[in-house]
Amino acid sequence: MEGPDRFHPQVGVGFAAVSAVPVSEVGELQAYGNAVAACTKCRLSQGRTQVVFGSGNPHADLMFVGEAPGFHEDKQGLPFVGQAGKLLEKLLAQIGLTRGEVYIANVLKCRPPGNRDPQPDEIEACEAHLFRQIELIQPVVVATLGNFATKLLSGRPLGITRVHGQEQQTALGGRKVLLYPLYHPAAALYTPAMLKVLEADFARLPELLGGVLEPVPAAAEPELALVAHSEPAEQLGLF
Ligand code: URA
Repeated sequence: MEGPDRFHPQVGVGFAAVSAVPVSEVGELQAYGNAVAACTKCRLSQGRTQVVFGSGNPHADLMFVGEAPGFHEDKQGLPFVGQAGKLLEKLLAQIGLTRGEVYIANVLKCRPPGNRDPQPDEIEACEAHLFRQIELIQPVVVATLGNFATKLLSGRPLGITRVHGQEQQTALGGRKVLLYPLYHPAAALYTPAMLKVLEADFARLPELLGGVLEPVPAAAEPELALVAHSEPAEQLGLF
């Protein structure tokens, strides 16, 4: 889904899906996304197919921040559409949410070549885009996926293995938010023990959002096949 529609997904009823973000800020988010589509602030602009700005509900109370687009994201222009994205969708389903009800973005908006780690100067060039997104979306909870998003948004060097599942109050985009570090789904795809921890941390999201959600029965969920090791990891340095 490309173009303006990706900012206007179906908004589900129920808990905390809609906040009081004024309509003008939704328009601003869209306008900002359109402007970022032409960004040349760092070298990654040269190798990208397109900028992957973000997608989901511009009113979302829950925002996820991953690392950077991978191969599929770069092609489709949407974040988390590969195997890691399928796992993210499954985890969301377990707490009664769809990706259209949350907002998903990345630290970097352009794919690093070969899915290598983001470089410090690329993060520095791109971070203003993320901070502006947070400012316009006004989420209540920002869940960081993996090390890069966690370190950037917490402003601390502590790795995800130490801080996952530990929410902290912070100020982002000029407002108070709850920062909630989670393991990156791409890492959990390969490590069943990490997946268990990720699921347990994920299960606390409704409580952090202050809502009551009906858990989806396990039988109703689509099966997510574990990715074979022959498939290249989408991201490195996730923990
Ligand atoms: N896809 C994304 O969009 N971001 C990641 O961090 C990993 C996969």
